[in-house]
Amino acid sequence: MSTKWLDTRQKVVAYARKLQAERLVYSTAGNISLRVPGEPGLLAVTPTSTQYDFLEPEDIAIIDLDGNVVDGRRAPTSETPMHTLICKRRPEVGAIVHTHGKAVMTMANLGWTLPPILTGLVEATGGPVYTSPYSQPETDQMADFTAEALEDRGATFMRFHGLIAIGADLEHAFHTASVVEGACEVFLTIKQLGVDVEELPQEQVDWIASYWRAQFPGAPEPLPAPEPKPYPGLVR
Ligand SMILES: [Zn+2]
Repeated sequence: MSTKWLDTRQKVVAYARKLQAERLVYSTAGNISLRVPGEPGLLAVTPTSTQYDFLEPEDIAIIDLDGNVVDGRRAPTSETPMHTLICKRRPEVGAIVHTHGKAVMTMANLGWTLPPILTGLVEATGGPVYTSPYSQPETDQMADFTAEALEDRGATFMRFHGLIAIGADLEHAFHTASVVEGACEVFLTIKQLGVDVEELPQEQVDWIASYWRAQFPGAPEPLPAPEPKPYPGLVR
């Protein structure tokens, strides 16, 4: 194998293993794409039908934004069109992480919205996480139907399927996927308690979300911090 893209491939393998370690994927489900540094028209993508335990850098395909394999011994994920179309339309997106964690799959089945219930969630996603309409696997629908929910947001549930998380780089995309899984667990626990789900005040959401937005190249500076004040409505 050419060593030209070795660093990028190794990084994808390292994060694929992290997805498995955090139980954000099962068996061969889920996938990652990462833009090749200095070559924004190329993506390093996890292969189709490969157990994460056995993944090696050589298994990571290098593809162009039309899905053509440029280098690699394994075919890229069957969900490649979702990755290439998002990267084509969104030049600021540097990496995509697609997960099948239990909590996000529960939300994806229910078609629910994850409200801004935690500061860390807003910092990782930019606001509420919506469920996108059902899209047929291995079609352009997967990118088309998630586009609206990802417009100003780091993640969306894909109906009857899982989660897609985007970021300026792989660190951000992985962080978002991981935080959303945890926040879904918290949200579903609150629902089971039968109490009202409390949300952060909108002013706080707007401020924290501006830090999420700032990760992307060319984004404005984060908003100045609001004047700290008590929020009486949130005291039990
Ligand atoms: Zn999937």
